[in-house]
Amino acid sequence: MRVFSIPMRTRFRGITQREGVLIHGPAGWGEFSPFAEYGPVESARWLAAAREAAYDGWPAPLRETVPVNVTIPAVGPETAAGMTRASGCRTAKVKVAERGQDEADDVARVEAVRDAIGPDGKIRVDVNGAWDVDRAVRMIRALDRFGLEYVEQPCATLDELARVRRLVDVPVAADESIRRAEDPLKVRAAEAADIAVLKVQPLGGVRAALKIAEACGLPVVVSSAVETSIGLAAGLALAAALPELPYACGLATLSLLEGDVVGDPLVAEDGAIPVRRPDVVEDALRRFEPADDELQAGWRRRVADAQALMDAPPVIGVAR
Ligand SMILES: [Mg+2]
Repeated sequence: MRVFSIPMRTRFRGITQREGVLIHGPAGWGEFSPFAEYGPVESARWLAAAREAAYDGWPAPLRETVPVNVTIPAVGPETAAGMTRASGCRTAKVKVAERGQDEADDVARVEAVRDAIGPDGKIRVDVNGAWDVDRAVRMIRALDRFGLEYVEQPCATLDELARVRRLVDVPVAADESIRRAEDPLKVRAAEAADIAVLKVQPLGGVRAALKIAEACGLPVVVSSAVETSIGLAAGLALAAALPELPYACGLATLSLLEGDVVGDPLVAEDGAIPVRRPDVVEDALRRFEPADDELQAGWRRRVADAQALMDAPPVIGVAR
């Protein structure tokens, strides 16, 4: 078990360091990196994902590459256009509804990305639940002038998502509404979304996420939890094992981190990531191992607390 702490290139979710634990087992390396606000109950699912990676491995892939989107943060139009062109991706996810910006900023950004990506490229916008229903309807119609593939989490609640979905033609994707295994079924039951955004760690592993995808019956976009290449490989494995993959996935997130723990990071080539499983490289990992004993102890405690809540007998030797 090895603790890592990697600086973020830009502040994200209020964090400046991405931290977690890497676990090695007979099947390879697994990543356990629940965000700080997650308690032991939620973290147990993240640990189940790491243990699956380390001890069981993943189902056989059905495809060799996974198309991915470039993510465009709430930057100005020129920067947005430059990032889109530099990415080589055929799909762009554009962040909108940033606090402190207005609707004209969102329109200008999406228009610039459309110019940059061309008429055949796809654009989705991610609202992170920031709009109410009226604003969502107005803004989706305004932004759809540039052609939207879908709108991700336009409002916070399932009820609002369902109302927006009935009022606009653009498909709606649920992201924040899906954080635990039962959520995709609730989304489906509420008729709140056309697409489910699934992440491997919060859902308890690749197999668990595959079952959830099947049960909810919605097309899936696999996204990362801003992981190292070890965690991203699990996302790739899920995307590669899904019977249908109609949308580009949100797995091109390595550029948010200052570095990685493998020698050959999982980055996009021509808008897709080849399906493979890189190994931890000792020199790379050592660069990001915190010397701070308290940080090390804190992560060991989080693993132990999560493990104590899991049904299976402990497989990782951690002193409580
Ligand atoms: Mg999102």
